[in-house]
Amino acid sequence: MKEISVDVLIIGSGPAGYTAAIYTSRAGLETLLYKGDQPGGQLTITSDVENYPGYPSGVMGPEMMVDFEKQAGRFGSDIRSGMISSVDFSSDTLIAFSDNDEKITAKSIIISTGASAKWLNLESEQRLNGKGVSACAVCDGFFFRGQDVAVVGGGDTAAEEALYLSKLTSKVHLIIRREEMRASVIMQNRIKENNKIQIHWNSEIKEIKGDESVDGIEIINNISNESKSIKLSGVFIAIGHQPNTEIFKKYLNLDDSGYIVTKPGSTLTNIPGIFATGDAQDKIYRQAVTAAGSGCMGALDAERFISNN
Ligand code: NDP
Repeated sequence: MKEISVDVLIIGSGPAGYTAAIYTSRAGLETLLYKGDQPGGQLTITSDVENYPGYPSGVMGPEMMVDFEKQAGRFGSDIRSGMISSVDFSSDTLIAFSDNDEKITAKSIIISTGASAKWLNLESEQRLNGKGVSACAVCDGFFFRGQDVAVVGGGDTAAEEALYLSKLTSKVHLIIRREEMRASVIMQNRIKENNKIQIHWNSEIKEIKGDESVDGIEIINNISNESKSIKLSGVFIAIGHQPNTEIFKKYLNLDDSGYIVTKPGSTLTNIPGIFATGDAQDKIYRQAVTAAGSGCMGALDAERFISNN
């Protein structure tokens, strides 16, 4: 096992992780960043980002994350592919282990592991994953050009996915389990004005049909209990996210949903020297710009910790 010692280890490569890396490396701290299993984070599976300040015409999420990485690299951050698979925070020496068989000792660790898509957990959903079932319209929508698809969920993600798919496919069935959407009013209006999107209120998917690929869904109405079959080729699940905090739960205080608890107004966790940023600790705002802001806070908190210890 190779042993590495750095000033700051950053775990994760979304807006929070890269922003933290820009700040710590510009401050002259030796910075190692591990990208994780979704390099660039959730923005790499979105399309237009219209609400990140500084891009008056919007920017594609994947393109923005390439720029974030370049900016962090420019100041000397060591950016590596791979996962941090476990940590040992049981003593004052902060240790992490990578799946590249490395033992990393750091003066401070900034956690920016983000969150991942949630699934319905139906047997048929798992069996047909990648065969018509997806959690990313931008990645997979192309395969369903001119066909009918479904999107599950009533939040901003579902609205965004449905609008994106409406440009490619012939029809989008939007399956919403209540009689209202959680999405912002502007997104709800765009959905309702789009004649290629049909909303199925109070409905949930009972089964995704198909052997080798998706050929339909069975939905059930939660009020009337009536079932209905719809023929289609693709199902996009957009029902929210789960924070990627599993490897820290033995050491860090997490809330009931698994988000890392930080001291209000800071990125401090219950362990000195460990700072949590971005969606791994934020279940309220969850925006690229707020994640970047908290990455900056994490870097400044880490710098202060290192200079005082
Ligand atoms: P949300 O938690 O906001 O919404 C999840 C949706 O999925 C809800 O409608 C929820 O229903 C539904 N849902 C959850 N579990 C199930 C289930 N098992 N079966 C069926 N439906 C289910 O998640 P999002 O990912 O949409 O958004 C997360 C955050 O990111 C939000 O703050 C959002 O505003 C933001 N965002 C902003 C964007 C933008 O500004 N461009 C784009 C995308 C996201 P119910 O309402 O009944 O709980």
